[in-house]
Amino acid sequence: MPELPEVETIRRSLEPLVVGRTVARLELRTPRLRVPLGEELRRGVEGRCITGSGRRGKYLWFVLEDGRGWFFHMGMSGRLRFVEGADAGEGVHDHLIARFAGGDALVFHDPRRFGLSIVDDPATSKLLADMGPEPLDEVAFDSDYLAAFRRRTTRAVKDVLMDQRVVAGLGNIYVNEILFLSGVRPRRSMVRMTLRDCAAVVVATREVIAEAIEHRGSSISDFLDGIGQRGGYQWRHRVYDREGQPCTTCRAPIKVVVVGQRSSFYCPRCQR
Ligand SMILES: [Zn+2]
Repeated sequence: MPELPEVETIRRSLEPLVVGRTVARLELRTPRLRVPLGEELRRGVEGRCITGSGRRGKYLWFVLEDGRGWFFHMGMSGRLRFVEGADAGEGVHDHLIARFAGGDALVFHDPRRFGLSIVDDPATSKLLADMGPEPLDEVAFDSDYLAAFRRRTTRAVKDVLMDQRVVAGLGNIYVNEILFLSGVRPRRSMVRMTLRDCAAVVVATREVIAEAIEHRGSSISDFLDGIGQRGGYQWRHRVYDREGQPCTTCRAPIKVVVVGQRSSFYCPRCQR
């Protein structure tokens, strides 16, 4: 599933190609993804010019000329790509094709259909209402903020960091990497985190997310950006999907444990 760095990479790759373009026609080739695709979406987008873009957590949107946002969530397998010319979107999982005036198209491809596309106001959208701070927001996401959750929950620290209401945009890949750099095991209860652990997690979060954006995301499974290019951060993963391979710090074999139904990779020596 694309996480914050992948969604930000998609946004950055598409923004220069779609800003200033007007959607002449929106073709909806499937009745529903996570929510129905229908006339409301078509009315919201067709005939409007894209003036900018935004992102919050794992949601990205294109700002339309009326100030509303054309939102996308990639779900499990969504991919948004810009296609030059008129021959776009004949693939079986190409569910939405926006054809621009003057040619070219934006195609939303989603084999597993957990993705989303709606038009909504970014300032008031329910999609963003309960979302925690952005991990790179140094004011809102600091060690005191994270430490306060020690009194609110006994859940595992990994579950807490995966919760979009606590911090936005993190998923299984990046939380594994963050906990490795923090020296904290994924199953550690939040109540057993020291203030120092919380500070380490916040610092590691900023480091991992900034570095992953810089390397244009992780191309595990089939992630590609808006122009079909792979990311490069998968080559820098320290623990994710490395079960049995040597730790990059101490050479101990990386272990895997299931937390919240997701595989969690950690070093039994470096993480406590
Ligand atoms: Zn180690």
